[in-house]
Amino acid sequence: MATIERLDETTVARIAAGEVVTRPASVVRELVENALDAGATSVEVGVENAGLDLIRVTDDGHGMGRDDAVLAVERHTTSKLSGVEGVERVSTLGFRGEALPSIAEVADLVVTTRAEGEGASGTRVTVEGGETGVEAAGHAVGTTVEVRDLFARVPARRESLGTPKREFARVSDALSRYALAHPDVRFRLTHDGRTVLSAPGTGADVDALLAVYDRAVAGQSASLAANDEGDGGDGDVRVAGVACYPSVTRASKEHVYVAVNGRPVRDGDLRAAVVAGYGELLPGDRWPVAAVRVSLAPDAVDQNVHPAKREVRLRDPEGVADVVERAVREALSTADLARAADVAF
Ligand code: ADP
Ligand code: MG
Repeated sequence: MATIERLDETTVARIAAGEVVTRPASVVRELVENALDAGATSVEVGVENAGLDLIRVTDDGHGMGRDDAVLAVERHTTSKLSGVEGVERVSTLGFRGEALPSIAEVADLVVTTRAEGEGASGTRVTVEGGETGVEAAGHAVGTTVEVRDLFARVPARRESLGTPKREFARVSDALSRYALAHPDVRFRLTHDGRTVLSAPGTGADVDALLAVYDRAVAGQSASLAANDEGDGGDGDVRVAGVACYPSVTRASKEHVYVAVNGRPVRDGDLRAAVVAGYGELLPGDRWPVAAVRVSLAPDAVDQNVHPAKREVRLRDPEGVADVVERAVREALSTADLARAADVAF
């Protein structure tokens, strides 16, 4: 007969870590979201061996004081929520306080940081094999997080990963999504010392698109924008972004990017709304290249439906989809499509 036993804390922590940190790309996502939440205007990501040997994320955000830096690596500590009401109205990308401790469960973690007005020296917090160390260390205002030997202590997880090439493709894809979701932030990704992505952070969607693709794609695009005041008291829906002309298509829907309140999401309905905006313009079996940013009041979106937060639930999905579809349709109707097609063929 089975007997029920209570799991010890270490096991519980390791299981929870497994949901947040599944592969190098999920570490990168969590660290980039922390940088964005800290108000960074520049986020530099360097990885070695697809992130298995090293992931380093440096930002110029507000940084942390010594006490906060020590607290940050502990479980369920966050500066972004207070109490259960807070979960209903989060406006930050993070809120669970799980990322840094989860990463420290499965890798060696070093956080070097300095808060504004904190004098010349910042703080370095090191978590290696469950031991936390704290020392003074120099750093510009902002934060650098280094993650070494990911999953070295969790061989089963390491073996379940794809090839380094495949894992790096996921890292690169994640960075592309954040660059398109935050065209006002400078992003740089290097792999084994080689620059793979460099988005300038000008605020123009087309510049982010150019960084992720090339001139052949970005040169064939129109900006899109639409607002809806919202009649049912749901507040504003604002849509911005960039849509390529129907002369630029892809065989996969992965080139339709959607972000909600700064978070890249996989949302079939919003993606379908983008495609619907093209109407009859797309050839059969082909998908457009487009990046759409949706901004909603924090309480119009539930971010807490997925451990890795890749999905969100909207309070008014149809209403939002309508604004997205209209934004795309209007952008394409004002573009000189005949001329664009001439250039393309
Ligand atoms: P969460 O993002 O859910 O709050 P994390 O474990 O990712 O949880 O981070 C814990 C806390 O550490 C954050 O709430 C924030 O206060 C601080 N922190 C983490 N990364 C950074 C950073 N890059 N810049 C400033 N503060 C940070
Ligand atoms: Mg976080």
